[in-house]
Amino acid sequence: MNSARAAALLLIGALMAPGCTSREEEQIAPSKLATDMARYAPTVITADTTALSPGDRTALASLVRAAAVMDRLFLRQTWGGNEEMMRRLAADQTPAGRERYRYFMVNMGPWSRLDANASFVPGTPATRPHGANYYPEDMTREGFNAWLGTLPEADRQRAKGYFTAIRRASGGTLSIVPFAREYADLLPEAAMHLREAAAATDNASLRTYLTLRADAFLSDDYYRSDIAWMDLDSPVDVTIGPYEVYMDELFNYKAAFEAFITIRNEAESKKLGYFANHLQTIENALPIKPAYRNPKLGAAAPIRVVDLVVTGGEARAGVQTAAFNLPNDERVVTERGSKRVMLKNVQEAKFNTILKPIAALVLDPSQRNDVAFEPFFTHILAHELMHGLGPHAIAVRGRKSTVRQEMKELSSAFEEAKADVAALFALHTLIDRGLLDASMTKPLAVTFLAGIFRSVRFGITEAHGRGMALQFSYMLENGAIVHDSTADTYRVNFTRFAEVAKNLTGEIMTIQAEGDYAAAKKMLDSYGVMTPGLQLTLDRLKAIPVDIAPEFPLSRP
Ligand code: ZN
Repeated sequence: MNSARAAALLLIGALMAPGCTSREEEQIAPSKLATDMARYAPTVITADTTALSPGDRTALASLVRAAAVMDRLFLRQTWGGNEEMMRRLAADQTPAGRERYRYFMVNMGPWSRLDANASFVPGTPATRPHGANYYPEDMTREGFNAWLGTLPEADRQRAKGYFTAIRRASGGTLSIVPFAREYADLLPEAAMHLREAAAATDNASLRTYLTLRADAFLSDDYYRSDIAWMDLDSPVDVTIGPYEVYMDELFNYKAAFEAFITIRNEAESKKLGYFANHLQTIENALPIKPAYRNPKLGAAAPIRVVDLVVTGGEARAGVQTAAFNLPNDERVVTERGSKRVMLKNVQEAKFNTILKPIAALVLDPSQRNDVAFEPFFTHILAHELMHGLGPHAIAVRGRKSTVRQEMKELSSAFEEAKADVAALFALHTLIDRGLLDASMTKPLAVTFLAGIFRSVRFGITEAHGRGMALQFSYMLENGAIVHDSTADTYRVNFTRFAEVAKNLTGEIMTIQAEGDYAAAKKMLDSYGVMTPGLQLTLDRLKAIPVDIAPEFPLSRP
């Protein structure tokens, strides 16, 4: 459902007179499920496969099947009753039944992810069990810890491991079941599809990764395949396996299965390489004391830009991932670092479905046409790169430290604000030196302004949102953004924007270089807040979808 239709439904609800009979209400009022579902705008996600070799095309078809196995694994990991419930809901062909099935598939279970995991299917637990299906439903945190105390050290580590489930053995005691045994009916099938793909592709790094990953599905030893994933350099780019631990709300120990089957975006990869070649130029120009600059930047963390073909498992559920950092295994991260993958077509879909309608409501009409995806995505790329620039290892009164240590609980929000505003500074610097086309200047600023409202829409407790609120208030105070209080719209003041972005970059980075926690706190307390004016504007955005519900035509057989 598009935002116009969602708005119309809300309007119908608001216009209903109190005198309506209940029968009329039943007919006119949208069902709660339909309203909830309208928060996800159905969106086609597709990618250009024409440049793929015939072998890679065959591989892609096998990988799509492997991703579908991740769906089944994840459904089972979420809740023991999930697979049967899915079949039951799918059989209900009444309009209400179809709606419920659709919402179940968006959430990959009977609990609504945008509503603190509240149940929307009668006869299920009121909220999702905190331990999901990784542990027995009746097991408590205390019960697990008491049992852990009775185990030898090696078993204790296995019990807390990413790739084991905890079950009740006969007699009621807890026992450790490796994933390879727990999902013995599904993991061999997933491994088979990976091997088919490995046999078909002509890319050696992909073949290595898929072969090692298939082995890992059967052995629960993911280390070598994680390393191979770091080395992956292939037109078909794949991330598949047990990764994130968020669904284990008891301990954050257990990993959920997911898949991102993607195709490398060659044009954006080239752009990224171009920026990477100019990072030292930007570092040398940072608006901070020369002593705070890094005269020799190390190798930047790897970034891949890809287009999504299909997701599987946890990646399919709820709000869609637009970028991720993996792996999580500390052994691999220590040895090889981690890799950031950015899903360009997902970013573009969210831009069209969410940012454009926001811009239409909050921007001054004279600037709305400057909102564009190209500068939006370029700014995101620059944001990621700028995390690597500026102060990191610092000296505080002769004592060696890091920005992260000194900024403590403020470090994330402050670092996100830095990456955002320094990305503006970096792009302005490249434009000034003729390294980027000057026609981007205005769209960059206006799109950034619209993006602020998208980021702070769900509050400022999260680091990105708080960092954006800081930039918003600072720019408003310093005249880079101007508010029209009659229309409640905002516009960029182009004569001030670049200078204010540069000044804020300098202020944040200087505080970081000096490890000045008190100054960071003062800045976040005065600027990184939800002002009444900002809240009023956000209140007008309620009918705009929260996220997309993707349809993947390339995943159809
Ligand atoms: Zn960031």
